[in-house]
Amino acid sequence: MNQSKILNFISGNVSSLNGVGYKTKKLLKKKKIEKISDLLWNIPQGFTDRSNLVTLDKLVIGKITTIKIKAVKYNFPRIRNLPNKVVCKDDFGKIDIVFFNSREGYIRKVLPINSTVIISGKIGYFKKNYQITNPDYIVPASQQGYVDKIIPKYSLTEGLTEKTYRKIIDQVLNKIIALPEWHNKEILEKIGNVPWSKSISEIHKNNDNNINTKFYRRLAYDEILANLLILSRVRQKIRKHKKIKKEFDTTLHKKIIKNINFDLTNDQHNVLNEINNDLKSEFKMFRLLQGDVGSGKTIVSLISAGNVIKSNWQVALMAPTEILAKQHYDLALKIFDKTNIKIEFLSGNSDAKHKNLVQKNLLNGKINLLIGTHALFQKKILFKNLGLVIIDEQHKFGVKQRIELSNKGGKNCDILLMSATPIPRTLVLTIYGDMDVSRLIEKPKNRKNIITLSKPEDKIDEVLLYIKKQISKGCQVFWVCPLIDESKKLDYSSAVLKYNYLIKNFSKKIGLIHGALDKNKRDIVLKKFMEKKINILVSTTVIEVGVDFPNANLIIIENSNKFGLSQLHQLRGRVGRGADQATCILLYKKNLSENAKKRIKILKSTNDGFFIAEEDMKLRGFGDMLGYQQSGIKDFNLADPIVHEDLFKIAESNVKDIELDENNFNKYKFILKLFDKAEILTETT
Ligand code: ADP
Ligand code: MG
Repeated sequence: MNQSKILNFISGNVSSLNGVGYKTKKLLKKKKIEKISDLLWNIPQGFTDRSNLVTLDKLVIGKITTIKIKAVKYNFPRIRNLPNKVVCKDDFGKIDIVFFNSREGYIRKVLPINSTVIISGKIGYFKKNYQITNPDYIVPASQQGYVDKIIPKYSLTEGLTEKTYRKIIDQVLNKIIALPEWHNKEILEKIGNVPWSKSISEIHKNNDNNINTKFYRRLAYDEILANLLILSRVRQKIRKHKKIKKEFDTTLHKKIIKNINFDLTNDQHNVLNEINNDLKSEFKMFRLLQGDVGSGKTIVSLISAGNVIKSNWQVALMAPTEILAKQHYDLALKIFDKTNIKIEFLSGNSDAKHKNLVQKNLLNGKINLLIGTHALFQKKILFKNLGLVIIDEQHKFGVKQRIELSNKGGKNCDILLMSATPIPRTLVLTIYGDMDVSRLIEKPKNRKNIITLSKPEDKIDEVLLYIKKQISKGCQVFWVCPLIDESKKLDYSSAVLKYNYLIKNFSKKIGLIHGALDKNKRDIVLKKFMEKKINILVSTTVIEVGVDFPNANLIIIENSNKFGLSQLHQLRGRVGRGADQATCILLYKKNLSENAKKRIKILKSTNDGFFIAEEDMKLRGFGDMLGYQQSGIKDFNLADPIVHEDLFKIAESNVKDIELDENNFNKYKFILKLFDKAEILTETT
């Protein structure tokens, strides 16, 4: 096979392999393995040593062992649920091979009486006999070499055996031959000087597949490069589009700033300048506005919206939840009061009559600004001339979705994404390399740092007293319960318990929200909280998303050691949005781990979200970072931005060189395909 044949093979479906029928295909799919390349990236998690071939007098219970024996007697009970059994021997002892769910015919075939076979499996002991139940391998003596060795251990699913999987992956590895190198000498030297094909087979077959070996690093580098290349390509493609420049003067902009009751921070002014320059340029804006919780992104986005409307274009602003969208809508009404800007609200809950009206008035241009939830992106919702799309709290978007969004708005539509997930500087390019990035780092002036305290749970009485005092002063309280388990039931029960407990200790003015509550009910409770009809809001982590309750000044986070650092910071950011001093109390169970102690210490010492994100990354590793794991946009199978930071740096400058020469770029198409990125290129229009 040459390179292009190999490529076709690798990007083909697993069903082209021998032994992958309907059933196995389904099992593989469960492990997210559909293409042959997915098999390559499903790397062994470790290795099983089956090389210790021993005689039957040397068995150790519980140990994975390989033996060479002869079947001497069958025992096939005709009673349901009793296993079939074969008594086997060597010159030194006796063992039972036990089969659940295997037919007699099969057993007679693989274990004929009196012929020597190799069996491998875990040694058990039952009624004074050694036994192996459902052995991993039974092969004729002639195939001893296939079993009697160190064998890679893959993460598999029930029904998919190591034996079957090995046959599949071996076929793939055997087809992969040495390929012409795509990296130049200089890069190759830097990343360990090993060829791709050698690295792939080493990773799968050698019993050292540590993340730092040169073979692993070689593969990781290709993955990093593929990612950065794609982002760079997408960026270029989007930049190539010429759009009609937006033309506006600063009168509205100035008027809004004059009418709000605070001064914009320098960062807010700077970001507005950056956005305005983009809007006025002939290139499509594709910008990410990053700002810690409470940094004041909304006002920036609304002023930009005003400018776009001033230049006779429409604007859509989308938020992830109805309540947040409503909040933006109310703010927009206030800000654009006494202008002739027409604003409408749309969500999945809007009634049909309202929806129809909105549809009509969008098309004839009577609506200038549409604010709402995901409902904004229904096919039926068409604009007369959409000039800007703003998406709030978008950390769930991957590259592909960003492209879709950009395509959807049309060629004159600028895009502004806003995210409160602080991403360490070193990673911005890796995740958002397709976008321009603005950052709001400075906090609004009146903003006091949130005071963070920690208390062991057995001092909860002190906390209750403190809460009572705060409530009597008119302050509102969040009480966050931990997510004990992914399952909604458990999540729900811990919050309900706390709710009942607090009702007993306080008045009835307590609300409860959790993941199992449907959206409408949740919004009703949140509304009550906003209208101050509720003093304490008990919740699971559903309040994480950017709702603004300026009157809430105290947050209690229970079992805080269960949360990651960034997540705690996000939760804490629910308070301290007004001018009053806010407090966060971290409750913890005794016997904190060293890591948990560190987390609490960091939170107490700083309110800087970017700093916290960096620390979080160091403590937990990249894969666990907030927003990343939940997002389902895991861009890396192999590379780890912390461990392989040096490789990311090399790749960054490598991409710049590659992009200088279009012919050169073709060489790298192989890795784009390998890492399943090539499609993204065709989607960019
Ligand atoms: P986020 O960046 O988390 O979305 P918001 O836009 O919701 O933050 O702003 C948080 C709060 O801070 C809001 O009540 C907003 O009115 C207020 N705010 C925004 N900018 C400033 C500023 N420069 N000075 C004072 N308050 C501000
Ligand atoms: Mg916000």
